[in-house]
Order: sequence, then structure tokens, then C-alpha cells
Amino acid sequence: MSFESSCDETSVAIIEDGHKILSNIVATQIKSHQRFGGVVPEVASRHHIEEITICVDDAMREANVTYDDIDAIAVTYGPGLVGALLIGVTAAKTIAWAHDIPLIPVNHIAGHILAGRYVEKIEYPALALVVSGGHTELVLMPEEGEFKIIGETRDDAAGEAYDKVGRVLGINYPAGPKVDEMASKGKDTFDFPRAMEKDDNFDFSFSGLKSAFLNTTHHADQIKEKLNKDDLATSFQDAVVDVLVYKTKRALAKYPVHQLILAGGVAANHGLRSALDKAINDVSNTQLVKVPLKLCGDNAAMIGAAGYVLAKKNIFAGVNLNADPSLDFDLLEDK
Ligand code: ATP
Ligand code: MG
Ligand code: FE
Repeated sequence: MSFESSCDETSVAIIEDGHKILSNIVATQIKSHQRFGGVVPEVASRHHIEEITICVDDAMREANVTYDDIDAIAVTYGPGLVGALLIGVTAAKTIAWAHDIPLIPVNHIAGHILAGRYVEKIEYPALALVVSGGHTELVLMPEEGEFKIIGETRDDAAGEAYDKVGRVLGINYPAGPKVDEMASKGKDTFDFPRAMEKDDNFDFSFSGLKSAFLNTTHHADQIKEKLNKDDLATSFQDAVVDVLVYKTKRALAKYPVHQLILAGGVAANHGLRSALDKAINDVSNTQLVKVPLKLCGDNAAMIGAAGYVLAKKNIFAGVNLNADPSLDFDLLEDK
């Protein structure tokens, strides 16, 4: 059984043998946050409290299991919103304690990455490109259960940039999927910056791109010029995808791996998926593992997949487990 409540999705899943999803209930709160243009932490916590027991009941009913069938409970304990995390952590600890079931503490980002296990057996060493609402990073996994950051965003995450740019285009939060759809219809006509592309590291920056986008649209507003929104979306997306692909290829050149895993909410992006499909052809001996579209956004099945890996490494927690909102992987030394 696994729990996810780090942001605005309450989710409970039942996983068999670490790779078979018996149920994966996701209660999204998007509608409640939309009118604020983003996630309101206090509203998120309240929704999690209301939803979590319903999700547990639904997940168990759909999987047709009782507590006697549950061998372990995996839960996201960070990173994320502290009030939101606490609901999942408390629910998981309570059930673990009441039914004497081992508890596994899971890093949310490890969950995003190990969702790749639902499509392919992960062969190590592996590299993950994690692109989500709060993270954009390249994570090297020398062996199973080991995560080292080799590069990350210095400012905005890619998903955050999508959401901000989408807002200017008049799209509701979260804007990623709609911007993605518009981008498939337009042309790259605006010359947006590819920040840090040529820098000798694996870091990213998206705030300059966001500013360039906002300046372009504001200026057009002032002179009452109408810009083609699809072209704006395509130009923005091409800039994001170019940098992500370029830096990932550089990382693969320095760190040869068996697999590249594309993970996180923005991994659902069609432009990014097809650009990486093409790019991987130039990299010999590396297989691209794309997390399935349905498992890119936050869900408990991914936490169950990661929990299985951690349990094999004997990583368990007691009832003193606490939420850790700024939980992070270590940086790779000598990168
Ligand atoms: P984190 O995982 O870093 O803690 P999070 O859990 O809030 O953050 P996710 O749920 O993993 O983030 O991803 C949500 C983000 O993915 C949102 O910013 C959303 O706009 C973006 N997103 C979803 N689908 C797409 C898409 N097709 N193209 C681009 N962005 C997308
Ligand atoms: Mg979300
Ligand atoms: Fe996430």
C-alpha cells in the first residue's frame, strides 16, 4: 500500500510485487486551486484530510484486499508542502501502527523516477531527467536506491515556467498540458533564449525565458499588436525542450548509463518525449525509459514502486517518521 499527498493530489495505491498496480486512486484538487492561479497550501491540507480515508477505502476495494494482505506501507515524506505531507504521513503511520505493518519512507522525486519500473526493469547505472512542478534536475543512479544530483535548475522549475507562461496566455492552472497542445499547432517564430545551454555544467535556468516571454507579450499589449498564441507556445516549448535535451545529452556523454529515465509531471510533454526519442538515437547503448503518461503526474503507484526498491535495501521508518518539506538528494561530489 502506498500514499502520496505532497502537493495537490491525494493518492493511495495497492501494488503487488513492486510492479503490478492493483489500484491507484488519485483525488485531484485542481478545481479548488484554479481560481487562485496556483496551489494554496492551507486549502491543499484541508482537502487531503477530507479525501485520504476515502482514497484508502477505494484503493482497497478496487484491489480487493484487506489489511491482512498488506506487507508494507510506503509514504511520501518529502519534498512538498509540509501540511500536505503530514496528512499522508500521519495516515500511513496510523495504519502501519494499528496493523503492525512495516513503514517505508519515500522521497517524492525517487517516486517520480522509479515509476519507470512500470515500463521497464531498471538497469544501473541509470540517469534520470526529472522535470516537474517544483524540480528540474539530472539525477545519476550508480546503483539501485542511490540518487545523486549532477545538475539542477538555478531558479524556476520547467513546470513552474509552463504554468506562469500559460497564465499570461489565459490558461487555467496547471497550464502545462494546454500549452503543450498549442505548441503542437504553432511555429517557432519568436527568438527566445536558451539559458546556460553552452555552460560547462548540467544546470538549468528558466527565469530568463519566462521574462523574455512576459516582455514579448506585454510589449505587444502596449502597442496593441495581436500575437499568435500557438506560435508563442511553440517558441516557448522549443526553448525549454532544446535546453533539456542538450544538457541531458551532455550528461550522457560524461556519464555513460544503461538507461535514461524521463520522469515528473512535465515528462508528459509531447514535444519533450519526441525530442528525446530522436536524441537517444545518437547515444549508443542507452535505452530511453519514458514514464507512462498516466503515471507522470503525482500518484501513489510511483511511491509504491520506489517503496519496493527501498524495502529491498532495508530502509524502513518508525512511528517517529516526520514530514521533511525540503528533502533533497545529495549532489554528486567531483561532478
Ligand atoms: P514536484 O514533483 O517537483 O514536487 P509537483 O509534484 O507539483 O512538483 P508534478 O505533479 O510532478 O509537480 O508536475 C506538475 C507540473 O507538470 C505542472 O507544472 C504542470 O503544468 C506540468 N505538466 C503537466 N503536463 C504537462 C505537459 N504535457 N507539458 C508540460 N508541462 C506539463
Ligand atoms: Mg499536482
Ligand atoms: Fe511531483
